[in-house]
Amino acid sequence: MYTHLFFDLDHTLLDFESGEHLAIQKVFESEGLVMTSDLLNQYQTINKGLWQALERGEIERDAILTQRFNDFFQLHQMAVDGTAKEQIFRNEINNSHHLMPHAIEILEYLKHKPVTLCSATNGVYATQMKRMKDAGIDDYFSYHFISEEIGYSKPHPEFFAHALAAVDVEPSRILMIGDSITSDIAGARQAGIDTCYFGEQEVDATYTIHQLLELKHIV
Ligand SMILES: [Mg+2]
Repeated sequence: MYTHLFFDLDHTLLDFESGEHLAIQKVFESEGLVMTSDLLNQYQTINKGLWQALERGEIERDAILTQRFNDFFQLHQMAVDGTAKEQIFRNEINNSHHLMPHAIEILEYLKHKPVTLCSATNGVYATQMKRMKDAGIDDYFSYHFISEEIGYSKPHPEFFAHALAAVDVEPSRILMIGDSITSDIAGARQAGIDTCYFGEQEVDATYTIHQLLELKHIV
């Protein structure tokens, strides 16, 4: 039924969280702080608060990236260079390529099926390509749809229009697999593409899976 599968990357094939935790740990260690779950929670509360402030239009995106480290270390009476800390964080994230459970297994299974696999991710082109390459999954995909190169991010209709034009098939022959309700599921649905939600929430998607191997029952 489906001839093309669009795969989201972060939280779908790549485990962003493990990479993010390691990156935060690197930043803490640069100031001699040992990572604990309390410190991690403290940082995450600050980080989350800043992203919420962005949604309210109170702060610029770029400012968050440095402010979060300034604010965190300030709680510990430390004045740091937020830009330098963000650089440490970014380097680590760029090098992170932990896979979600069964990622290789399902890609290997799908490789032998009559479907074309495509990555469909938001992010910086060079970063996402490097992470896929390092994780050993880049070659499974015939197409890479990466927002920076396309000029639009999921769920923007232009992102999906670009991908549809490239593969040149009817939207009904495509399945979008992803964990984000707002970008993957809503975006694909709007483009007339069936959706497979990978996660634990109640979502209005064509399919819902709790682990990647369940895709075998769909494709
Ligand atoms: Mg994702």
